[in-house]
Amino acid sequence: MTNALARAESLIAVTPDYPEPGVLFRDISPLLADGPALRAVADELIRPFDGAFDIVGGIEARGFLLAGYVSALTGVGMLPIRKAGKLPRPAAAVSYALEYGTATIEGPDVLAPGQRVLLLDDVLATGGTLTAAQELVRERGAVVAGAAVVLELEGLRGREPAGDVHTVFTA
Ligand code: AMP
Repeated sequence: MTNALARAESLIAVTPDYPEPGVLFRDISPLLADGPALRAVADELIRPFDGAFDIVGGIEARGFLLAGYVSALTGVGMLPIRKAGKLPRPAAAVSYALEYGTATIEGPDVLAPGQRVLLLDDVLATGGTLTAAQELVRERGAVVAGAAVVLELEGLRGREPAGDVHTVFTA
């Protein structure tokens, strides 16, 4: 691991019992606030997917920040994957179970058939969110080019539902 990535990993803040007792919350805010660390993480997030995606999908809310950055870095457009109720005309909706509670995500009607979407999020926990995002992309006739997260919580086995996910850090 490069020095920049090691530093980036050290900037992920860990808070016990948030937002519920028993959850160890990983906050990437300090990493986002550090330019060189953020650049190193963004470069590593997309490294295996060079030239293999046409648009980057970010999952609300922290995935938006990563997708926006990668979009600017690579020149592709971005797809905001929203929590339910935020889009005036959702084109697709998928419900799933979270590490804490349940949720629904919705996508806007912007994907072209066959468009290759790289999905990004901050944390892979149980894998429910990323699996739902993959389903949402496929429901619209687009293709999942890959998925990448900043941090995988290995103990929660999110890869089992989500499949092959590229991870920058594991905990
Ligand atoms: P999951 O669907 O269980 O893989 O949960 C992943 C989603 O929930 C991501 O969008 C994360 O932002 C959020 N999340 C779940 N668990 C955590 C955690 N321990 N720390 C920070 N974010 C989490």
